[in-house]
Amino acid sequence: MRSHYCGDVNESLVDQEVQLCGWVHRRRDHGGVIFVDLRDREGLVQVVFDPDRHEMFAAAERIRSEYVLRVVGKVRLRPEGTVNSDMATGQIEVLGLELEVLSQAETPPFQLDDDRVSEEHRLRYRYMDLRRPEMFQRLKIRSNITRVLRDFLDNQGFLDVETPILTKATPEGARDYLVPSRTHQGSFFALPQSPQLFKQLLMVAGVDRYYQIVRCFRDEDLRADRQPEFTQLDIETSFMDEDQIMALTEEMLREVFAKVLEVALPNPFPRMPYAEAISRFGSDKPDLRIPLELIDIDDVLKDVEFKVFSGPASDPKGRVAALRLPKGAELSRKEIDDYTKYVGIYGARGLAYIKCNDVAAGREGLQSPILKFLPDEAIATIMQRTGAEDGDLVFFGADKANIVNESLGALRVKLGHDRGLVKRGWKPLWVVDFPMFEWDEKDDRYTALHHPFTAPSSDISPETLQENAATALSRAYDCVLNGTEVGGGSIRIYREAMQTAVFRTLGISDEEAQDKFGFLLDALKHGCPPHGGLAFGLDRLVMLMTGASSIREVMAFPKTQSASCLLTNAPSQVDDKQLRELGIRQRAQQASK
Ligand code: ASP
Repeated sequence: MRSHYCGDVNESLVDQEVQLCGWVHRRRDHGGVIFVDLRDREGLVQVVFDPDRHEMFAAAERIRSEYVLRVVGKVRLRPEGTVNSDMATGQIEVLGLELEVLSQAETPPFQLDDDRVSEEHRLRYRYMDLRRPEMFQRLKIRSNITRVLRDFLDNQGFLDVETPILTKATPEGARDYLVPSRTHQGSFFALPQSPQLFKQLLMVAGVDRYYQIVRCFRDEDLRADRQPEFTQLDIETSFMDEDQIMALTEEMLREVFAKVLEVALPNPFPRMPYAEAISRFGSDKPDLRIPLELIDIDDVLKDVEFKVFSGPASDPKGRVAALRLPKGAELSRKEIDDYTKYVGIYGARGLAYIKCNDVAAGREGLQSPILKFLPDEAIATIMQRTGAEDGDLVFFGADKANIVNESLGALRVKLGHDRGLVKRGWKPLWVVDFPMFEWDEKDDRYTALHHPFTAPSSDISPETLQENAATALSRAYDCVLNGTEVGGGSIRIYREAMQTAVFRTLGISDEEAQDKFGFLLDALKHGCPPHGGLAFGLDRLVMLMTGASSIREVMAFPKTQSASCLLTNAPSQVDDKQLRELGIRQRAQQASK
């Protein structure tokens, strides 16, 4: 049907006949001549219909936006003065010789080049939305990225192995999506939150190097930029330590950035211990493009009379930190109030600050409601430690450490963006030396910071694990890119005694461990190699690489924030018959759509 894509017609084809298929992007009637911009995934080309050919011209008069056409025509240079330099094919046009309407179209639900269309509308008519060139470009880049990733891993001897989608519920942090079993009524499959245990079993099986581009499912409340189903590049290897795994996978990222974006990422990626990331940036995924840092001043303030500072400064679970904003003294009262509200989202009860007008003049050169509470030497040390200069502003956070970290960490990023301080370019980072466990105040027990199959650092034995739970470090690593966690993984436990010790530390009884993870514990008894791996969030990686504003923009058919599909209306009610077959009866309160 077709000799060329519309977007590929160029001067080299002048005087030749081409056969094109595509959608009517725009149709213009110009005093007896009809111009149609014909569009396909590769771009637009202008087709001209002359009135001399009556029948074809009459047909051209009836075509509307988004009709699907087949056109046979002759390529010619555009007349002098009508060249369109904004268009890739703007030097030429195609004189229509034959026209066939393959498909008609109703009035489009929105103009493809209208960028004010709501996301709801776009999702409802996603097939129209995907006709927009920037959407197609993202799908194309995504496809390029996965191809380069696969090529790299294939060349390194990795095997692409599929793992089950209908599987067993495993607690890995989030809520499971459940699927009722018809053949075992009352029992449920879970959709995998990740293939974690299967990839470990593949290592026990001797597969040695595994990868999979795999859909994962987590039934979380969709805060921020999450999707109920998302894609991971999942990797596992045997007989490699964390340094080798990080080296190999960062090589893979360098390759994909070089091949897809022609960008050279650093070699090697820098590494930073978790504790340092939290202390300097208030976050375990610091955006290193932003040159602002949290500075500890607990020691300076623990004895001052001002309780707002001395309280958290002398509390082992508290923290007082300063954040210097260069040229921040120019912030208005209103801007400072807005930042105070902003840190409130993270639980901060206030946002103290000092404006630095003339640092050399000491107290007199500074401006702040809190100055009167602070002794001279504390002020001097704060100025000196933060490196404050004339015209700067220093913010303070004083509270429970996690509140200070989260609020100042978020403020740091917001200031970076608001004040144009974000450096251009790519800043990858490995965060390492994570704590093994986190104390969960609500449940009064430890939870695994990564997941329960992560190995503790090598100086810990199963016998000493429990008593060192608060301070034990793990062999986990996260890959952070420009402030987004794009990947994470760990060296795994490969001995049953250690796996059991971890379950016990997490408050999982031996029976529960047997019930939920018996198959893993059994496998560990049958010759398990030392192994480890990681998973990259493919959607996030593609989002960053395409400069998209959300992962929804790089998925063909994403769901809404409330986990529904506006295109198909899923989830939806099912027939009673289907439920009966599954042995399921709905409670009186029908699930809302
Ligand atoms: N399964 C982990 C996750 O989904 C990644 C890993 O440890 O390999 O986060």
